[in-house]
Amino acid sequence: MRLVFLGPPGAGKGTQARLLEKRFGCRQISTGDILRRHQSRLTPLGEQAHHYMQRGELVPDALVIAMIEGELEQSPSGWVMDGFPRTVAQAEALDETLARRGIPLHAAVLFNADRKTLIARLSARWTNPRNGRTYNTLTNPPLVAGIDDQDGGELVQREDDRPETVAKRLEVYDAQTTPLIEYYRREGKLVQVDAMRSVENVAHQIASAIETESPAW
Ligand code: AMP
Repeated sequence: MRLVFLGPPGAGKGTQARLLEKRFGCRQISTGDILRRHQSRLTPLGEQAHHYMQRGELVPDALVIAMIEGELEQSPSGWVMDGFPRTVAQAEALDETLARRGIPLHAAVLFNADRKTLIARLSARWTNPRNGRTYNTLTNPPLVAGIDDQDGGELVQREDDRPETVAKRLEVYDAQTTPLIEYYRREGKLVQVDAMRSVENVAHQIASAIETESPAW
């Protein structure tokens, strides 16, 4: 299964991608997580990306596209792209790469979400920087505040989950990523889910949407 997850920050794409990975073994490719790992390892890419990420802006297409090519090499049996593509240029590059390899994309899943809820969700989000697992202090708190239930390590609030950066990220999503909705609709790949429901409900919506769209997967 090869899927693209589209939707504003805070809509739950990462949570659903991790669930699909656990349940069906299709690898989560989160460009945000990969870029954050580059930053913590202080690689040249991480240093270049930091400048954009801390402002809530997009990292330039050329950098992200080169990075994704390498990721595809490591995931021959299926993946979920969480946070890529975010621009039409990135979607075109992905289409070209997949066409060259002769592997089709099964669907682009659009997470529909209400703005006010997104802002509340992002400001309540705590992340495990070691593996990207997230908690929400309102809806899905850790057993002990600030500590990951599974590895016992510290949780952090992402620098770009601060209110002013969140507003910028939503603005960037509207301007640069929403044209992808039409892009995938034209390709006949778009399916939509109501991302405001529970984690289990959204997982169920995704499974049924994909089943209808691509019964053979
Ligand atoms: P995310 O974790 O998906 O919310 O991404 C965090 C930040 O990483 C974004 O605000 C961008 O600065 C950067 N980023 C992640 N994915 C992409 C992408 N596909 N294109 C450009 N920038 C990206």
